[in-house]
Amino acid sequence: MRYIEPHAHMVSRTTDDYQSMVVAGCKAVCEPAFWAGFDRSSVNGFYDYFCQLTDYEPKRSAKFGLPHFSWLCINPKESEDLVLAREVIAMIPDFLDRENVLGIGEIGLNKNSRNEHTILEEHVNLAAENNQLILVHTPHLEDKLKGTKLIVDLIKNDSRIDPGRVLIDHVEEHTVKYVMDAGMWGGLTLYPESKCTSPRAIDILEAYGADRLWMNSACDWGVSVPLAVPYAAQEMRRRGYDDDILDKVFFQNPMKFLSQCENFTVRG
Ligand SMILES: [Zn+2]
Repeated sequence: MRYIEPHAHMVSRTTDDYQSMVVAGCKAVCEPAFWAGFDRSSVNGFYDYFCQLTDYEPKRSAKFGLPHFSWLCINPKESEDLVLAREVIAMIPDFLDRENVLGIGEIGLNKNSRNEHTILEEHVNLAAENNQLILVHTPHLEDKLKGTKLIVDLIKNDSRIDPGRVLIDHVEEHTVKYVMDAGMWGGLTLYPESKCTSPRAIDILEAYGADRLWMNSACDWGVSVPLAVPYAAQEMRRRGYDDDILDKVFFQNPMKFLSQCENFTVRG
């Protein structure tokens, strides 16, 4: 099968992971900017990270024949420091014309704090002013429903943003409808310790349809599975789905959303 991995933190992964993904049929990998597992001490840490996402990592990926794309932002966890967050946001336009950049992400909320909300608003403004796609991280567990509603409402209220150019990631059973009803896309994250398992993700797909949903592994520096997406495809096949629907969910859907950015050029 062919698939696109729409959300993976490859800077934390090994070359063996690249190799396995390509062998499994991966045609492109997309890497949102996120927390590194530690807080950066200054804006220079983000400068280096953005260089890694837009220069070094695409070159490393290309050694395996895998096109690599990235999203840029300061993640919600580090957005608590407004001074640092604003320094990072001010630097992002300098990177937006790099050829593998897809848009602004993964922005969003972590603890639903006031400062996180302020910086989310400033990221959305940055995306609107520069006509960028938006990729959103939603909070975990008890903060998820409230956080998802806050994020969707904030973006919906900005008339400059087309909801079809926004993807809300880490949706679950209790948040997916709010995202779908807003006309946005949803991401089902297949992550072992929190978030969704394959059977749950497929149940959600069965309940809400396969039109504006994709699946991703969100593999990073923690316990995570770089092949979670093809494993979910295998689970769908076990349930009796044919190649056409697998191709739609795992290749055509991410292709359709991401192709709204002209930098995203992938051959099947
Ligand atoms: Zn992520």
